[in-house]
Order: sequence, then C-alpha cells, then structure tokens
Amino acid sequence: MGKEVLKVQDLQKSFGGLRAIDALSFAVTDGQIKSIIGPNGAGKTTLFNLITGIFPPSGGTFQFAGKNLNGLKPHDIARLGISRTFQNLELFPNMNVLENVMVGGHNHTCGGIFQAGFRLPGMRKEERRIRENALEELRFMELENKAAMGATSLPLGDQKLLEIADADKKVYLVERTPSIGGHMAQLDKTFPTLDCSSCILTPKMTLVGSHPYIDLMTYSEVEEISGYIGNFTVKIRKKARYVDAAKCTGCGICQTKCPFKADNEFEAGIGQRKAIYTPFPQAVPNVPVIDAENCAFFLKGTCRACEKFCDAGAIDFEQKEKVVEVDVGNIIVASGFDSFDPSVMLQFGYGKYDNVITGIQFERMSNASGPTDGKIVLKDGSPPHSVAILHCIGR
Ligand code: SF4
Ligand code: SF4
Repeated sequence: MGKEVLKVQDLQKSFGGLRAIDALSFAVTDGQIKSIIGPNGAGKTTLFNLITGIFPPSGGTFQFAGKNLNGLKPHDIARLGISRTFQNLELFPNMNVLENVMVGGHNHTCGGIFQAGFRLPGMRKEERRIRENALEELRFMELENKAAMGATSLPLGDQKLLEIADADKKVYLVERTPSIGGHMAQLDKTFPTLDCSSCILTPKMTLVGSHPYIDLMTYSEVEEISGYIGNFTVKIRKKARYVDAAKCTGCGICQTKCPFKADNEFEAGIGQRKAIYTPFPQAVPNVPVIDAENCAFFLKGTCRACEKFCDAGAIDFEQKEKVVEVDVGNIIVASGFDSFDPSVMLQFGYGKYDNVITGIQFERMSNASGPTDGKIVLKDGSPPHSVAILHCIGR
C-alpha cells in the first residue's frame, strides 16, 4: 500500500441541529483515486468544504502529507497542494486554456508584488517554471494542442455583483432575509441539467460572503434612495439579529438548546425551526437570528437558554436596529420573486385540503435535507397512491 497522503479521522460537522457529517474516517494513499458518492444532502460538498478550509469542522482531524489542516485558511491549504474544482465550470473567460492552468500555479510562487511588478529575473524564472508545469499538465490531459484557444465562457448573468467586485469596485449587497441564496437555495434540482441546486449555489455564496470588496448586509432593507446615476445616497435599515456576528462562531448550540419553535419559512411552512435559527445549513453568513415574535424572552422575559449555552457570548438581547447611509455610483435591483398564493383559486382547494401543495413545498419535500428527508408523503406521513401535477397556476 502507498504512503498515506490525506488522512481524515472522526470528522464531524453540524449546522445547528443538523449533523451533516458524523464521525467520518478514511485515508487516501499515494497514487490512489478515491470517489465519494451519495445522494443530495449526504454531506459530500460539506466534506470538500471542510478539507479545503471553507468551513471549520465541529470535531475530528484531517491531515495532508502528515500536516494537520485543522484551523488553516483555504489559501494555506491550497499552497500545501490541495486543489479543488467545482461542479460548475469556473474558468477565466478572457484567458486562453494555457493561461487558465497557469493561474493555479501562481499560488505556489515565492515572489512578491515588487518582483512581479519589475519582472525581476527570479520572477521570470518562476513564470517559466509555471508555464512548463502547465504545459505538462495539458499534455497529460491531451489538451496541449488547444493551449492557445480561448477558454469556455461562463454563464455570468447571475454573477453580476461578483463580477463588479472582481473589478475592484466595492459593492454593498443588501438582502432582506438573514441569508443570501434566495429561492434557489430552496430548490432540489435545477432544469435542464438536473444539477443539485445547493452544489451550484454554495460555492458562489461562500465567494460572496468572503469577498474583500463585498460588504454583505443581510437582514437589512433599503429605506430610501436619493441622488442620481453616479452619485446615489442610500439609507439601509439593518434589523437587529440579537446575535453579535463578530463574536458568533456559527456553532449552532443555541439552536439545539432553544425550546421554542415556529413555522419554518425556508421549508415553505411544512417544517418548523427554532426561535433562534439560521434559515438553512449553508446560510451565508452562518450567524443565527432571534425571531422576537416567537422568542420567550421577548414575549415573557423568561428563558435565555441560548444566552446561557453560548460560550462565545454572542447573544445580545439589547441589540437595536440601525439605519446606515452609503454613497454609491450605481444600483442593481434584483427583486427576485414571490410564489403565487394559490389559495385565491378556490377550485384547486389549496389551504382547504391538506395535501394540495405548491411547487416550492414540493421542492422542499423532494430535497434530502428537507423536512421529509426527500420523501413525497401526505400530511399524515403516508405515501400518496397517486399524484397530480398542475402547471402554470396563476398565469
Ligand atoms: S450565537 Fe453562540 S451558540 Fe449560537 S451559533 Fe453563535 S456562537 Fe454558537
Ligand atoms: S431566549 Fe428565545 S431564542 Fe433564546 S433559547 Fe429562549 S426562546 Fe430561544
């Protein structure tokens, strides 16, 4: 057997009350190709996120070439030699095939800005080495004769804000709910390729959440806009989360200890959540919010269980909403959509009969991490004998 390259021991990850990975152990040896397979929601993407340092583990260790990776930042892990590709193509559209491969090599250079800016001999030598390595990799993949061709363009329509931020322009991203992701995060599979929705979305949400030029304002709403193109002033109301985002580690203990429940908006009303909650396990930011309308402390002045069990001291019942003002040059409105309420169309019996559900409720049911663990069931938990699907209700 070859030398152990990657060793994962007793790895665990919990998001609130949901245990995504439970005591996982395996090793990958030199020259071995290991596949991780499983249904949507099995924890494959979470495992990659842990190994590449995107999420901290809740327990366990993982080592690469004998070095402990726990606590390392993603760029440090990448420098050690762990690279990741995503289910969706993430190419630089304006670069050719060779340049796209060379970008990966720059993570392993020793030169700084000064050497690069003045193109000193050491830097030129490193660039030659990166180029030769990239050509070698293209040869291995039998792509050498395509090195000068333009790389495939990405579909960029839904990445507009990220694009602007990548151009070194500061972006304020204002989101009404406690997490970015929108309805896409509620979907199970997406048309036409039947890709897993969260597999496409999670890496993009993580990029937005950690982007140095994006100031993410979740649980916030635009109050007022004045000015003109190139010179707007925007008033933004930041609602109180009652959790200090700077102190919160996202451990989720508060949610497991909270004794009070309410209808879960993310599950479109077919599941419940706690009074302190993150909307879904991959939420960005991974900071819970207290729903004051269903919290015992705000209703009766009792409980405070979340505060008692939060070792980070992040619960802040005194937190107040505040209005901030920002100056911006341009505004992009991405209003999204709301599902049509079919209860106004009495002939379909939505709201009257238990087992008439909407498309979004069906999506949550068919999702392995949804309230029915991916099973299509009636309200009493039994499987339906037959299902009728009605399209275009409300058009
Ligand atoms: S508020 Fe405290 S207990 Fe809750 S997730 Fe944050 S750090 Fe953990
Ligand atoms: S104080 Fe409110 S949010 Fe905290 S545990 Fe009690 S009911 Fe839940």
